Amino acid sequence: MRIQANSIYEADTASFLHPQTNLAQHLRQGPFVIERGEGTWVYDEHGQSYVDATSGLWCASLGFSQERLARAAYDQMTRLGYYHSQAHYTHPMGTRLAERLVEMAPVPMSKALFQCSGSEANDVAIKLVWHYHTIMGQPKKRKIIGRQMGYHGSTCASISASGKPDMHRDFGVPLQDFLHVSMPHYYRFHEEGESEEEFSARLADELENLIQTEGPETIGGFIAEPVLGAGGAVPPPKGYFERVQNILRRYDILFIVDEVICGFGRTGEMWGATTYDLKPDMLSCAKALSAGMAPISAVLVNDRIFDALLVQAGRVGHFAHSATYCAHPVAAAVANEVLDIYEEIDVVARAREVGAYMMELANREAERPIVGDVRGVGMLCAIELTGNKATRAPLPDVERTAEFIAERGRAHGLLLRAIGPTLAFAPPLNSSKEDVNEIFTRFSRVLDDVE
Ligand code: PLP
Repeated sequence: MRIQANSIYEADTASFLHPQTNLAQHLRQGPFVIERGEGTWVYDEHGQSYVDATSGLWCASLGFSQERLARAAYDQMTRLGYYHSQAHYTHPMGTRLAERLVEMAPVPMSKALFQCSGSEANDVAIKLVWHYHTIMGQPKKRKIIGRQMGYHGSTCASISASGKPDMHRDFGVPLQDFLHVSMPHYYRFHEEGESEEEFSARLADELENLIQTEGPETIGGFIAEPVLGAGGAVPPPKGYFERVQNILRRYDILFIVDEVICGFGRTGEMWGATTYDLKPDMLSCAKALSAGMAPISAVLVNDRIFDALLVQAGRVGHFAHSATYCAHPVAAAVANEVLDIYEEIDVVARAREVGAYMMELANREAERPIVGDVRGVGMLCAIELTGNKATRAPLPDVERTAEFIAERGRAHGLLLRAIGPTLAFAPPLNSSKEDVNEIFTRFSRVLDDVE
C-alpha cells in the first residue's frame, strides 16, 4: 500500500504529472501552491498575495473567485447536473447559450457547437473544413494553413495547426496536411525601411505563393488568432488581415478565427474579429466564455457551413462527432451567468478604459535600455525585451531573459507570463486601475532589479 504523503509538496511530486513544466526542476523544488483567489489576486498556502498579470492562462476574465458563478453552478447541478446534446436532446442552458452566442457573433453566424476546451473547438472547426469540402465534392481540399507562432491548442489537430516550434519539438507536427506561413510580427521581422503595410503585403504574397505552389484545390482552410496570443501577444500589422482575407476569398478557402484569447472584450471590442474587421466562416471561443471557471468552448459556424451539413444530412445522416460533455449543463449555466455579468459591467467599455491606462503604464517602461517594443490592444499588452534597441537583437545573457524576469516577479508578489523575449499582460477584464497599477509598479521594480 502506498504511504500517504504528508504534505502537498510530497504528494504533488509523487503523483502529479504537470504539463508544460520542467519536470526535473519540479521534483527538486516542488510545486508552487495557489490556494485561493480574489479579484486579480491569488494567495499561496502561506497567505502570501500575488497580483496575476495574465488571468492565469488568459482565462480568469472575472478574477479568481465569483460567488455568483458558484450559485449558478450549484443551481444547475441540483436541477440537472448532466444531460447530453446528441440525437435531438437538449436542455435550457445549452440552448440559451447557443442562442446568445449566435446573437452576439461579430458576423452573421448560424449555429454554435460546444466542446470543453479551446483545443477541441479548433479540432471541430478543422474537421468541419474537411467535412464541408468533402460534401461540396472537393475531398482533396483539406490542407489547413496556420501561422508560425500561432497557437490553437494541444490536441493532435490543433497542435498541428499551431506553429510553435517548442510544441512540436518532441513529436513533430502530428497530422499531415498542415502548413504554416510567417507570423505577422512587424517589430521582430520587418526589413530595414519596410512600412507596416509593405510588411503585410510581403506576408500576403508569401501566403498566396504557398497556395499556388501547393495547388488551391488542396487548401481547405486558414486559421488565425486576431492577436497572436501565446506566440508573443502580437497585434496584426496594418493591412494584414484585409490582404489575407482577399486571398482566402479568391481561392475559396474557409477562414477559422480563433477567438479563444481575444473573445469577450479582450481587444476592446466583444470580438477580435470586430477590432480587425474579420469575416470568419467559423469562430472558436473558450476561456473567457466561462471566465475560466468551467471547461466549455464553442465553435460558431456560418450558414455556408451549416447549409452544407444540412444538404448532406439528407443523404447520409449527421455530422459524425460525439462529445459526452457537449454543452455540459453546469458549464453552460456558468457561461450564461458570465455573459450576464459582462452585460451588467459593460465589459467592453471597461476593457477599453482600463486597457488604455494599462498601455499608458506599459509605455512608461519604453525608454529602458532592455525594452525593445511595447504593443497592445484593448486589455492586452506586451513588452518585448532586447539586448540592443537599434538592431533589435535578442538579450545576450540569460539573467535578463523574460523568463528570468517572470521568475523574479514572484519575489515582488507579481505573477507574469513570459513568451520567449516577451512579457504578456492580460489581467482579468474586471481589474481596476489600482490592480493594473499594482502590476506595473511591481513590474517596474523587477526591471530595476535586472537592469
Ligand atoms: N487557441 C488559443 C488562441 C489559445 O490561446 C489556446 C490556449 O491558450 C487554445 C486555443 C487552446 O485552448 P485550451 O487550452 O482550452 O485547449
